[in-house]
Amino acid sequence: MSHRIVVVGGGVIGLSVAWRLAESHDVTLVDPAPARGASWVAGGMLAPVTESWPGEEALLELGVASLDLWPEYAAELDVRLLTGGTLVAAVDAADAAQLDVLADHLASLGREVERLTGRELRGREPAIGPGVRSGLVVPGDLAVDNRELLRSLVTAARRAGVVLDSRRVESVERGVVHVEGGTIETDTAVIAAGAWSAALHPALDTLVRPVKGEILRLRGRTGAVPLTHTLRALVESRPVYLVPRPGGELVLGATQYEAGFDTEVTVGGVLDLLADAERVMPGIAEFGLTETAAGLRAGSRDNLPLVGWLEPGVLVAAGHHRNGLLLAPITAAAVRAMVAGEDPPAQVLAADPARHCPTRR
Ligand SMILES: Cc1cc2nc3c(=O)[nH]c(=O)nc-3n(C[C@H](O)[C@H](O)[C@H](O)COP(=O)(O)OP(=O)(O)OC[C@H]3O[C@@H](n4cnc5c(N)ncnc54)[C@H](O)[C@@H]3O)c2cc1C
Repeated sequence: MSHRIVVVGGGVIGLSVAWRLAESHDVTLVDPAPARGASWVAGGMLAPVTESWPGEEALLELGVASLDLWPEYAAELDVRLLTGGTLVAAVDAADAAQLDVLADHLASLGREVERLTGRELRGREPAIGPGVRSGLVVPGDLAVDNRELLRSLVTAARRAGVVLDSRRVESVERGVVHVEGGTIETDTAVIAAGAWSAALHPALDTLVRPVKGEILRLRGRTGAVPLTHTLRALVESRPVYLVPRPGGELVLGATQYEAGFDTEVTVGGVLDLLADAERVMPGIAEFGLTETAAGLRAGSRDNLPLVGWLEPGVLVAAGHHRNGLLLAPITAAAVRAMVAGEDPPAQVLAADPARHCPTRR
């Protein structure tokens, strides 16, 4: 049966959800600035394995299940994937010890990972500098140009019949979405407003918070040694990553602070990112610096997203924190199943918002 559906928020999650739902329903997507938000700023890694950590097994399972959906999702949207896998580098002894913990954890879960010396890493990726002591090769992680993805999603959603409404949503309740200057009646509302979701429904009040991240975009110039893999590193325990794009662009990220809704790029953030990146890839100084940006990840209490019913007629798909691009295909598949009254992919059950409300379990 066809429903009237309002999707609130047009980042990668809202656009993916709206596009999928429009195959069977009348969908309106409400967002004053679609295809921006954290999704526009992000690095583009699709990396459940190198993001994983002991204690976060449910997130790893969810991420791996979504990664499996990515090749088909990318093909449908006609976006390119970077398939070279990820190299992870350690600079000092404590960083190397942390990578050992990660490697042991992944091996215990049966995940493929190869340990390399610094020299061996440089053999795989000549841009890596002599300051790198050891590292890992993690095959299978992917990467995508997030901006190309967003452009394709907007086109696909429009083609599928999604109506874009540029008003700001004030609140959502069963059957009604309150927008500036009016209301929209709906059978089902999907709250997908990323870090801004908490203000839209009382059940989300303390479940989603903004987590600021600063990121830089660099341009390859003559003489700059390009990267061919996604390169993540720990530099004196600070994480830093470099993601190559077709055409020679490098995305360098990312800081992580609890700073409310502040999106100003700080000098300190840029200094830290450039200094840490230079320890891993000394040739970074040859690149042009084309953009600095800050975005707000939607943090949740346990780093798992919130995907499920808040009340009859109101779904949430938010709280994707550092993994919203990775988790877009499985989130969209889950929301489509839930609206149809079907079971979502099993790995999504761990993301049910009812986990924070024991009386609803
Ligand atoms: C620096 C940085 C690097 C990252 N790198 C990666 C990465 O490499 N890989 C990865 O998977 N993830 C990464 N992430 C996380 C990823 O960007 C997010 O998880 C993802 O973009 C979340 O998508 P979203 O659609 O939920 O939110 P957003 O993209 O933030 O979109 C939310 C949308 O809601 C709209 N909105 C807000 N309030 C309202 C309202 N009241 N009414 C209507 N609309 C509203 C906004 O305009 C916006 O368009 C990164 C994030 C940051 C900040």
